[in-house]
Amino acid sequence: MITVEDIMKSMERLAPTHFAESWDNVGLMMGSKKNGVSKIITTLDVTPAVVDFAIREQAHMIVSHHPFIFKGLTSIDLDSVQGQMIERIIKHDIAVYSAHTNLDIAEGGLNDMLAEQLGLADITGFVPVGSDAIYKVTTFVPEQAADAVRQAMAEAGAGRIGNYEACSFSSLGEGRFKGNDEANPVIGESGTLTVTPEVAVQIIVDKAQLAAVITAMKGTHPYEEVAYEVIELVEPSRNRTLGRRGILPVTMSFEEFKAHLEQVLPHSHLRFGGVKKDAIRTVALCSGAGASFIKAAKGADVYITGDVKYHDAQLAKELGLLLVDAGHFGTEEIVTSGLAEYLKRTAKDNDWDLDIVPFLDQEDFFFYE
Ligand SMILES: [Zn+2]
Repeated sequence: MITVEDIMKSMERLAPTHFAESWDNVGLMMGSKKNGVSKIITTLDVTPAVVDFAIREQAHMIVSHHPFIFKGLTSIDLDSVQGQMIERIIKHDIAVYSAHTNLDIAEGGLNDMLAEQLGLADITGFVPVGSDAIYKVTTFVPEQAADAVRQAMAEAGAGRIGNYEACSFSSLGEGRFKGNDEANPVIGESGTLTVTPEVAVQIIVDKAQLAAVITAMKGTHPYEEVAYEVIELVEPSRNRTLGRRGILPVTMSFEEFKAHLEQVLPHSHLRFGGVKKDAIRTVALCSGAGASFIKAAKGADVYITGDVKYHDAQLAKELGLLLVDAGHFGTEEIVTSGLAEYLKRTAKDNDWDLDIVPFLDQEDFFFYE
């Protein structure tokens, strides 16, 4: 049985909850980790229409971008819209999980989905929001088991360096051990000092994958007592960034760029401010409400975000930027299909029998013409 906890772990691999901003609320909003899941609805917001759809589809879980419970809940008023949604979600035993700023920041998260939607290349983050330590795990394995241990650790996420995966370093040496009466050694005999060829396997791992990598290592290692060490590295570390910067495949005129946006962001109700440009190639973007990062976007030809105000456009002009307000909804609706694609890939990799249905409540979030 696939459980809510399995889906939570998959989401944690995509968007670790500790990436979230301090004011945010992410993770499991409602439900039990132990419940079984065979159908999931992915969405931008949890609205009455989304809850209706989940019930009709007999789904067990909703995965949303915007947190279902955001500010501290002080009461559950069953006459309010949110109270009624909570009541129905509980009655139908549905779990709700939200990945918000952690998904904005994560590699492969919402901002990368948006950059891909715009067809950008050479994508990098441009607003630093913190960094995570990288760890080095060393384990001592009998030679014949080294390959299996290296592979299991890599599959759990260890050894990723830039465009490379499964990176590790191994050196050959001698292991020594003497088991007591209770011991049951794979090599040698209890009570006798055994000397055997061993390989020290060293492999780096991000904090988010550390627990999974150690579990995978212990699960594959043939020894009763696994000898290993974990060291936190001073360098390198993994920088976390919000927003993305990249380049368009060709330089576009203002009109061409506008037509491109209208095509790839169909519900964006575009507004333009700042400096009108004739040649656009470098694009900075931040999904949702990213007007506070206009200064960081300086140097790009254009900055695309949502929820832009009058003075934001004024600042963009001073900085020499073309500013595009493509709407909060317009820049974030991609998350619905993006999350569904991610969960479908995860289900396939794990051989899970899971039905994943993206559902966007468009009516609630359009600005009407
Ligand atoms: Zn948002």
